[in-house]
Amino acid sequence: MREPTRVLLVEDNEQNLELAQFLLEEAGLSVEVARNAFEARSALSRRPPAIVLMDIDLPGIDGLDLVMEIRRNQEWRRLPVVALTAHAMRGDRERFLAGGCSGYISKPIQVASFATDVRRHLDGAEDSEDGG
Ligand code: MN
Repeated sequence: MREPTRVLLVEDNEQNLELAQFLLEEAGLSVEVARNAFEARSALSRRPPAIVLMDIDLPGIDGLDLVMEIRRNQEWRRLPVVALTAHAMRGDRERFLAGGCSGYISKPIQVASFATDVRRHLDGAEDSEDGG
């Protein structure tokens, strides 16, 4: 039996967290949640997921700093990390990608397309990782 694909969802807003988790689990993904950078680090250390969904506005250490930290870590640097953010200002997308995010999904979370969007980022990553 194939193990479900594991997603680490880093989000401090309870409503967004519940909605995202629900949509991902409904789509057959296994979801681990972290509500801040400390929980995210500890989840990553225990067992790196297939993909990280990273809210940028987190209390304390923000998501972008955490992404840069992930990119500096030998074990985590190739993890796909997709920014989840309400920022829609011109230049933000570039800032997130420059900071090491592999992609970007804007909030509010779109119920109809969220899981598909996540899968799309995941498939791109799995293709390049496979190698037979
Ligand atoms: Mn937030």
